[in-house]
Amino acid sequence: MESIGVLLVAKVIPYLEQELNKRYNLFRIWDYPHISQLSTQHVTSIRAVVGRSNAGADSHLIDALPNLEIISSSSVGVDLIDINKCKEKGIRVTNTPDVLTDEVADLAIGLILTLLRRICESDRYVRSGNWKCGDFKLTTKFSGKTVGIVGLGRIGTAIAKRSEAFNCSICYYSRTQKQESRYKYYPSVVELASNCDILVVACPLTKETHHIINREVINALGPKGFLINIGRGKHVDEPELVSALLEGRLGGAGLDVFENEPHVPEELFRLENVVLLPHVGTGTVETRTVMADLVLGNLEAHFLGKPLLTPLV
Ligand code: NAP
Repeated sequence: MESIGVLLVAKVIPYLEQELNKRYNLFRIWDYPHISQLSTQHVTSIRAVVGRSNAGADSHLIDALPNLEIISSSSVGVDLIDINKCKEKGIRVTNTPDVLTDEVADLAIGLILTLLRRICESDRYVRSGNWKCGDFKLTTKFSGKTVGIVGLGRIGTAIAKRSEAFNCSICYYSRTQKQESRYKYYPSVVELASNCDILVVACPLTKETHHIINREVINALGPKGFLINIGRGKHVDEPELVSALLEGRLGGAGLDVFENEPHVPEELFRLENVVLLPHVGTGTVETRTVMADLVLGNLEAHFLGKPLLTPLV
């Protein structure tokens, strides 16, 4: 398989990069800022693209690789891959569902607790020596709150299960009501936001879900409500979120993802009722390693003519 060209379009964990390099003729996109810098011979040798949540393959890249057969993403979200183009051209697409579900759900609960109990601020209180001057202020209880989930899929369900262990009531919004679910369904995000304390965004990024969290939803959540986003940054109208937080129209926000990563609106840096994470939902050694193995497994299956492990297209 050493003669098969594979184009890596994002920085991945060293293990995945090393394994790709061992098995294939690996090209790293950052060595070729423009695809035209690759020789025709190399371009035509590329049969696979490997990406992740922050880099996929748009129609321009797909068109530039005439022998592309498969795009394997080390992520469950494929919003940066032109799926329609892949279908049109018969290019296969794989992602890494399931193996990351627990990790992202754990982080969502971590974000909720950190935000409501002000864990980061408390830590800074101790480090700065302020504790000697008095007790830390009172915060907000998580147990027993109502958690509203936008997108009751794999990750949304795992967050719901964890929240139930905190005696929370669960409600959700998805395009379709899940018949098998006993959680309360609301047919719109605004209704969901009006009826929960903590709104968690866990749906895929599509044209429909771009800015699904807009001014109306934020106002419905209100000054005592909290927004948690572990989906994609573009789910949230970020300027609206910032102004709601600055004006006290929203209780707080815990964000793992942002509209223009790695750029985060600087107005958020001085607010204590926000928790800001650098898109680390799957960022543990354990989970990134199993995701890497799934990427490698899918490529191997494809090139050996076996069934793909996690086919999307
Ligand atoms: P999933 O199992 O496919 O679940 C997605 C859920 O969203 C489904 O229940 C689906 O239900 C719902 N949905 C789809 N379109 C919707 C819409 N227009 N409005 C409302 N709900 C909609 O996916 P998953 O594995 O849980 O992953 C969800 C997303 O999490 C990924 O796409 C990714 O963007 C994000 N993610 C983030 C991180 C991170 O590091 N922060 C890590 C992993 C994943 P219906 O079809 O009934 O609408």
